[in-house]
Parts: sequence; C-alpha cells; structure tokens
Amino acid sequence: RRDAQKAERSQAARLLDGHVVAIGANVNLPSQVPMAIDEGAEGVGLMRTEFLFLERGETPDEAAQFAIYRDMIKALGNRPLIVRALDIGGDKQVAHLHLPQEANPFLGVRGARLLLRRADLLEPQLRALYRAAKLGADLSIMFPMITSVDEVLTLRAVCERIRAELDAPQVPLGIMIEVPAAALQADVLAAHVDFFSIGTNDLTQYTLAMDRQNPELAPQTDSLHPAVLRLIRATVEGAARHGRWVGVCGGMAGDPFGAALLTGLGVNELSMTPRDIPAVKARLRASALTELQQLATHALAAESAQAVRALNGEAA
Ligand code: PEP
Ligand code: MG
Repeated sequence: RRDAQKAERSQAARLLDGHVVAIGANVNLPSQVPMAIDEGAEGVGLMRTEFLFLERGETPDEAAQFAIYRDMIKALGNRPLIVRALDIGGDKQVAHLHLPQEANPFLGVRGARLLLRRADLLEPQLRALYRAAKLGADLSIMFPMITSVDEVLTLRAVCERIRAELDAPQVPLGIMIEVPAAALQADVLAAHVDFFSIGTNDLTQYTLAMDRQNPELAPQTDSLHPAVLRLIRATVEGAARHGRWVGVCGGMAGDPFGAALLTGLGVNELSMTPRDIPAVKARLRASALTELQQLATHALAAESAQAVRALNGEAA
C-alpha cells in the first residue's frame, strides 16, 4: 500500500483532459530533496539562497556556495533546479551584512536592487552557479524583486560575462514577478527573459499595500483578491506573447484551490512546500482544464476575495 501511494504521488499532475502542470518543490537544502521527491516533486522550482546567508552567520564564499549547488544537483538526479539569486532585504534581514537601516525596508534596497549595488554578493554567487552548470545539470537562475527592463538587461550582461569567463553553458534566466510594475509590463519583460516565476506572497503585499507580516491585516492579505488575479493574468498573457512559460512559487501555489485557479489562469508550473504537493496534485487530477478556465474567468470578474473563495466547490 505504501508503495502504491508512493507511485501515485510520483505521477504527473495530469488533468482529466490530459493537460499537465509541472510540480516543483520549494527547497533550500540538499538534505530536503529526498523528502520532496517522496511527496511527488518533479524538481525544485524555488531554492531560496538567502537561507545560506541567514543560517551561517557569515557570507558563504564561492567555494562554499558551489558545494551546496553541486550537492543539490546530485540529490536531484536529472530533475530541474531553479535557484533564486540572493533575496535580501524586506522581511529577510541579514545582520552580518551590516546593510544601512532604511525607513521602509520593503520599499527599499532589496532583492535585485541590492544585487545590482553589491557585485561582491552577486558575482561569487553567479560564478558558483555557472560552475555548477558545467556539471551538466538542468539548472535555471532567477532574480527576485525585478521592477524594470534595465535591471534585467544589467543582470543578464553580468551573467553572460561570468558565463564566458568560465566557459560554462548557457543557463535559462528568469525573473520573479512580485511587483505590480513587473506584472503590468510582463509583455515587455518577457522579451528579455526565458521564464517568469510569480511570487504571490510579495505580489499580494505590494498590490494590496498590506505588509505580509502584519497579523492585524492577515485576514485581508489574500492572494485570491481579484486585483492580484488580474496581475497574474497579465503576466501569463505577457509571457505568452513571447512563448515563455510561467510558474508560481508563492504560497498560493500550495493551496489546492489556489493551484486550480492558477492553472485556469494559464500558469504552467507550480512550486510549493513539499508537504502541500499531494493535495494539489489530487485537486488538479480531479479537474478538466476548461472547467478551471471557466473558474478563472469567474474569479477575475468577482468583486472580492471572499467572492472568489465562494467559487470553491461550485465551479470546480
Ligand atoms: C513570494 O514573494 O511569493 C516568494 C515566493 O518569495 P519569498 O516568499 O521568498 O519572498
Ligand atoms: Mg518574494
């Protein structure tokens, strides 16, 4: 019975009409990979590398980072790995970096904005990643908190310089969509990247102007708010114009109803906490794509997050 359950978990998230959604795990350490695969992960859709900085109390150098990425690749076998470049700032403060205090850290120098100011953080990480790419892995790199095309072009140029220096293979380069500006300009950004991964935690925070950590606002800080769904829709449409794929690695992907809606909105990949995978796969397998597309259409037109939630059970 356990074997049967395990076999079922490893099956694809195939909808009733055959449409397949890729399922990844949000995993930070190589030691977490076997458990994620056991839950049914087909790869790692988000490796949060700031974790390496938070854990150690010191900045891991290129060699230390390379060792971790290499072990991650080994643990995954041939499965895909998407590594997110360092996302420091906002809710992710690293004391030993001694960064300047900011009045509004969530609106400050965080994510890609910090990487672009700190070559001493960006370049060792990219060197370690391109060295790992030479091991022949299915590796992609993505950048957090992107707001503009300029940021993408600059980061791409740094990647290309380091790749050439190391004589490493090309690596697909993606960006996180977690700021409304990026979602609204997705059609423009898509020309310059290989894929998008939507961070619904930050996208919700910035769309609703609600601190993702404020317990007082937690009941309203809802990724199912139709305004957030419209930005996800714009992201998918922008990506489609350039034939790019779109993933979601925020918390919405790990909620079965959220996953159903995202699939209906046209998202191609969902990455989540490993323990959420079985329930999400079960939900998707019980649905047809046309049904979820209808659900998405209703949700986009809904008046509120509550009205969207009320569609759960009705339409799909
Ligand atoms: C997100 O913002 O949804 C996301 C996946 O990134 P993080 O939670 O690490 O900010
Ligand atoms: Mg984020």
